[in-house]
Amino acid sequence: MIIDTHCHLVSPKYGDMEEVRRNSIALGVGHCISQGTGPHDWEGTLELTTRWPDFVSSCLAVHPSDCTEASDEDFARMAELCRKHPQAAIGETGLDYFWDPPEGWSTEAYYARQRHLLELHFALAEELGLNISLHTRDKVNAGTACFDDAFAIARHFPKVRPVFHCFIGTQQQAESIFCELDGLISFTGLLTFKKTENVQAVAAWCPAERFMVETDAPFLSPDPYRGMVNIPGRTRYVVEKIAQLRACEPEEVAACTTANAKRFFRLPALD
Ligand SMILES: [Zn+2]
Repeated sequence: MIIDTHCHLVSPKYGDMEEVRRNSIALGVGHCISQGTGPHDWEGTLELTTRWPDFVSSCLAVHPSDCTEASDEDFARMAELCRKHPQAAIGETGLDYFWDPPEGWSTEAYYARQRHLLELHFALAEELGLNISLHTRDKVNAGTACFDDAFAIARHFPKVRPVFHCFIGTQQQAESIFCELDGLISFTGLLTFKKTENVQAVAAWCPAERFMVETDAPFLSPDPYRGMVNIPGRTRYVVEKIAQLRACEPEEVAACTTANAKRFFRLPALD
C-alpha cells in the first residue's frame, strides 16, 4: 500500500469525493493525509476523516499564504479542534517568501506574521505530541532566507519532527534536516517533470528511512497528467519515478515510504 502524505481533499476542484477515493484505491493508494490550510477547510477536513477513517487522516493548520486572513482567534479555534479531534500532525504551515505581501502589508510585516504563526504551530505540535508538515518557498534565485528562517524556528522545538513537504532543496539542506532536526523530506510529482534533475538527484541519493511521497493534490499532477486535477492515487507515479531513479522496484519504495509515514504520522491503526 502507498500513503499519500500530503494532499488537500477539501477543494472546490473536487466534485464526487467517492469517485476520488475509489480511483485512488484502484491505483494502490490506500490512505492519505489531508492537510488543512485555513478556517475555510478545517471542519471539512475533519468530516472526511469521520466519513472514511481508513482512507483519510487529517492535519490542521494555517498555510502561510492565509496568514493575514486568519486571525489569532482563528488559530485558537483551530488549536481547540486539534485538542478535541485526534490529528495525524499539524499541517500545512510554514513560510512562503515567494509571493508578494497582500495590499496594506509591508514585506517585513508579512514575513514577520508568518514567522509568528509558525512558532505558534510548533508550540501547539509540542503540546499535543505531534509532528509538523512544513511548506517553505523562496523567491526563485533569491537565496534561502525562507528555508533558513523555518529551520531556525524548528531548532527551538527539538521534540517536534518536521517534514519539509514538496522538497526541492539541495542535498546539503536535506542532510541538515536529517542530522540537526531529525526531520524528513517528501517528494511530489514535480520530479516527473522535465528540468528537475536537481530534485531527482536528491531522490536517488536520499536514505530510505528519511523520505515520504505525496501528491499535494489537487495541485502538481505528475506526468503524464500534468496540468490536470490531481488525486491521491497518483502518488503511484511518484513512487514509480523514484524507483526508476534509485534503480529498484516500486514495491521497495512503497514499503519504505509507507513505513516512514506510519511512524511520522502515528498511524498504527492501519497495520
Ligand atoms: Zn500543500
